[in-house]
Amino acid sequence: MSLYLRNPLAALCDEPIGGIVVADGQIVELVAPGGSPATAITDTFDASGLVLLPGLINTHHHFYQTLTRAMRRAINQPLFPWLESLYPVWAGLTEPMVASATELALCELLLSGCTTTTDHHYVFNDALGTAIEVQADVAARLGVRVVLTRGSMSLGASEGGLPPDTVVQQSDAIVVDSERLLKKLHDSNPHAMCQLALAPCSPFSVTTELMRDTAALAEAHDVLLHTHLAETEDETEFCLATYGQRPVDLLASVGWLSPRTWFAHGIHFADGEIARLGEHGCGVTHCPSSNMVLSSGICQVRTLEQAGVRVGLGVDGSASNDHSNLMQEVRQAYLLQRLHDPSVTHLDALRWATAGGADVLHRPELGRIEVGAAADLALFDLDELRFSGTEDPLAALVFSGASRARHVMVAGSWRVQDYQIPDLDLADLKARHGELARTLQATAT
Ligand SMILES: [Zn+2]
Repeated sequence: MSLYLRNPLAALCDEPIGGIVVADGQIVELVAPGGSPATAITDTFDASGLVLLPGLINTHHHFYQTLTRAMRRAINQPLFPWLESLYPVWAGLTEPMVASATELALCELLLSGCTTTTDHHYVFNDALGTAIEVQADVAARLGVRVVLTRGSMSLGASEGGLPPDTVVQQSDAIVVDSERLLKKLHDSNPHAMCQLALAPCSPFSVTTELMRDTAALAEAHDVLLHTHLAETEDETEFCLATYGQRPVDLLASVGWLSPRTWFAHGIHFADGEIARLGEHGCGVTHCPSSNMVLSSGICQVRTLEQAGVRVGLGVDGSASNDHSNLMQEVRQAYLLQRLHDPSVTHLDALRWATAGGADVLHRPELGRIEVGAAADLALFDLDELRFSGTEDPLAALVFSGASRARHVMVAGSWRVQDYQIPDLDLADLKARHGELARTLQATAT
């Protein structure tokens, strides 16, 4: 089977194209403008009037937080009090809640043009023993490419950490479960649909021993490491008071400055710290909406890239955004980074959400329209009021605020067609998710 996507209005591609041919889940041919495919074609898709992007890649999220959006106890606060108000709610999570939250978040992401996403699930209680497997099952059913993480918290309030003791685990148990999940879920092959990374939550919620053990486990299994870093000045002060070190020094001391590591946020750095991250080949996820909502600060994306840091975008958890629309996040990144550096363009923002994210995840086969790349595609229709009068179709997506893809393909299969996810009752999903959210929110009031 080979599908010819013919005549897109514009495409995010290094060269002008008149279409692409997809077969066996990959892009097998780029067709020149006005040309015709050399590949034998079994089906044709008319992409006239549609803007073709590589499927967007989300490199930071907490799906479970879709159940605690816009909660009165949390909103309009900075990170630490925001977290302290939500930890007791999250402590009541169950696996059916995680399943529903994962399904809802993945649907939101798909409908916004996202084809690959990570998730950072770090809340574990006695009811969440197989939460990551639950997430993997939902992602497989929806056909979304995922890099799930086995998150963790091991430093409770009684030992000087920020989270309450009810949501932390013993380090030994975390390491054993991480290894179990790596063996069960991680596919190391190119074009994998499910990978696993290891992700202690933050310097203020895990012990240095767990950070060190996790880095060793990631090395042994050749998987990625992820955590929050340099999100707020509160974090810097916590690390100085608790460890006598700034966060970057702390992470260096536990073996975390490495090409296998990517950090969420990366805002508050001292002189020389960005250069260190670049020298060690680290990646950073820029989460503009979350950073603005929590008044965290502005990530210096251009400076990070110039230092050699790989940069992608993330919607972040849905209690600090509070949505999972990655296309809207492209616009947020463009706007916020323009404030910081006027050399930033709309093409930079689109690149961060595509090839940039792929590079952060060490997935060179994703995020690009080129021969051999995965057939992960998002097609946007400019037939909306907001696009009327625009000249440059790619720029229009960012400047006029595209928010929904008309068609989305993952690994050569259509996952969104005419703004709908086939065989999925969104009204029913919303009703079930809303009910579970009300139940969870009620447990802590
Ligand atoms: Zn986060």
